[in-house]
Amino acid sequence: MKGRIIKGIAGFYYVDTGESGIYECKAKGIFRKDKKKPLVGDHVEIEILSEDEKTGNLTELLERKNELIRPAVANVDQALVIFALEDPKPNVALLDRFLVMMEQQEVPAAVCFNKDDLAGPEKAEKMRKIYEDCGYPVFLCSAAKKEGIDALREYLDGKTTVVAGPSGVGKSSLTNLFQSEIHMETGEISRKLKRGRHTTRHAQLIPLGKDTWLCDTPGFTSLYTENMEKEELRGYFPEFRPLEGSCRFQGCVHVKEPGCAVKNALEQGRIHRSRYENYVMFYEELKEQEKRRY
Ligand code: GDP
Ligand code: ZN
Repeated sequence: MKGRIIKGIAGFYYVDTGESGIYECKAKGIFRKDKKKPLVGDHVEIEILSEDEKTGNLTELLERKNELIRPAVANVDQALVIFALEDPKPNVALLDRFLVMMEQQEVPAAVCFNKDDLAGPEKAEKMRKIYEDCGYPVFLCSAAKKEGIDALREYLDGKTTVVAGPSGVGKSSLTNLFQSEIHMETGEISRKLKRGRHTTRHAQLIPLGKDTWLCDTPGFTSLYTENMEKEELRGYFPEFRPLEGSCRFQGCVHVKEPGCAVKNALEQGRIHRSRYENYVMFYEELKEQEKRRY
């Protein structure tokens, strides 16, 4: 039978087969042989050991479309980063860090600002403009007022989406709204997964409907930029890309060089200051990391 790994805990893999439910599976020797470790998000073939106890063995890993390192999950289509417009106020440094990580891993990302009901329209439009100008789809919504939910649901439809954001911004509230349609299945899943509750640091997939999954990444708030060279960073700010090659110096990193097209664009208001400031901050961080490495 075919299914998808929705969670892995201490050698057990929970495989959602759709119609037939969730099976607790072990990986047999075949995987050790070709050094492939099953990941949450993998499409797999299983053989059933007990229909009563819902147990089985993984027998085959199907081909992976991609594989993220953070979070460790396979076959991701896109990412959604959720912040609140108020309570808590958006931390744009964290937001930009997340977008950089997704750019580095080549995952298309969108930004969602929840709690639209708590913020004035100017604030909402200001945030929308910053990220739309960078090329990211932006969703403004209110889980409390159930506004802007349909557009968000449409973005998620038929995709596997990594969801991230600090706690308190409304991630669970939004997920619950999306899940209401498949309430029964969710109950079954939570029962199955209860024993793994302590391992909340691991990614897990939440089914929202046919071919639609959320990858929940609890505790995904401190973000890392290891394995990144400081010279790479500029490539992960999409709004800098059209200016590539326009700076006076080849290899300009847009920090202190004269004749820099990015800094010109900043002065002319074509690049948003908060984005540029975060760029410089991340750049300095990477520079420090590099110093420590050598
Ligand atoms: P999570 O930690 O990101 O999962 O956030 P929760 O979904 O638990 O929400 C945190 C708090 O914000 C709860 O008290 C929610 O009721 C509240 N909340 C969530 N969405 C909204 C919203 O759109 N507007 C307002 N005013 N409150 C919200
Ligand atoms: Zn430059």
